[in-house]
Amino acid sequence: MPATERTEVFDPLAKPKKAGLGDIPKGSDALTEVGRLMTVCNSCRYCEGLCAVFPAMIARRDFPDGDLNYLANLCHNCGACFYDCQFSPPHEFNVNVPKAMSRARAESYQAYAWPRIFSGLFARNGLAISVIAALSVAGFIAGFAAWNDPTILYGTHTGPGAFYKLMPHNAMVALFGAVFLYAILASIMGARLFWRDIGEPAVTLTQTNPLWQAMKDAGKLRYLDGGGADCQADENDTPDHRRFYHHCTFYGFMLCLAATSVATLYHYLLGREAPYPWYDLPVVLGTIGGIGLLIGPVGLLRAKFVRDPDMLDKDRFGMDVAFLAMLFFTSLTGLALLVLRETPAMGLLLALHLGVVFGLFFTMPYGKFVHGIYRYMALVRYAKESYRP
Ligand code: SF4
Ligand code: SF4
Repeated sequence: MPATERTEVFDPLAKPKKAGLGDIPKGSDALTEVGRLMTVCNSCRYCEGLCAVFPAMIARRDFPDGDLNYLANLCHNCGACFYDCQFSPPHEFNVNVPKAMSRARAESYQAYAWPRIFSGLFARNGLAISVIAALSVAGFIAGFAAWNDPTILYGTHTGPGAFYKLMPHNAMVALFGAVFLYAILASIMGARLFWRDIGEPAVTLTQTNPLWQAMKDAGKLRYLDGGGADCQADENDTPDHRRFYHHCTFYGFMLCLAATSVATLYHYLLGREAPYPWYDLPVVLGTIGGIGLLIGPVGLLRAKFVRDPDMLDKDRFGMDVAFLAMLFFTSLTGLALLVLRETPAMGLLLALHLGVVFGLFFTMPYGKFVHGIYRYMALVRYAKESYRP
């Protein structure tokens, strides 16, 4: 239903119906609620200086579904507008922007998922699917090695090529290259759908000013500070430091990716096989990144549990937990492998680590990971709309 029709019969007291998982965000209940709130907020405009959402809202007179998805993905869920609002619950207008935006965002992850068949499935069972995928691959690798030669799985292997005694390098590249490429392809297809739905032309992605501005805003998580006071966990303005933990998680992930890339270059360009000494670049990058991936997800999980329940979208709680848990266990198993790689535990730990990495990549395009992509793209659009040469 076009937003203009929705706002013609606008009723600020209208109660949203419960949204179902797997809904396509076209006139869905979550988007209807965001549209209702944006209409209220556009009359009020008190929160104009808190984040990018309100200036982007003010630039609009009506709110088609694509624009609501854009606004939902521009929101960083800092919570500032909930506590600043004179119409938040128990007021009868029931203005709860962070929660409504969270619901619409989560629906957008499903709606743009590729292939479509997986979207609702992962939203409902994200954690279970991640764990099953991880344990299946770990079990297969360990079982295959044990079946061939148990001394390989339980033996002590040292020196270059030790990891490939368990699984040949080419088999490892084929399995993980395939799931990595699949994750990239599915993420690109989802991002393409998002971009088309919000009505941005492809040419915007070639404009350097918005791209650079969005990169700076995303790199600093500029709008996660709720207008300067940090994210708020409750009405007492207790900061939950989500910005710091987000940084640990994001930069930790990027460092781990850099470690894998450097190791790949070592292997193919220099002919040097893993494992590498502790002072070598892939190990240093992986260790620092791994520590970030332990601290960040734990802090973000904690922030979820201490957050004011009024702002939480409990229906999607599991999807967020699944991604954070997979990041945490990827790092934990990786660091354990680093410490114990010259002991008989190496075989089982390597199988477990590879299984968790597989589960992480396989489920990445259907959960919280994509929020980084859609949010960056929303920031590009916002930077373009705000740019004055
Ligand atoms: S969240 Fe409340 S205070 Fe802020 S702009 Fe909307 S209606 Fe006004
Ligand atoms: S980023 Fe914060 S202030 Fe802005 S809409 Fe979201 S919750 Fe409200």
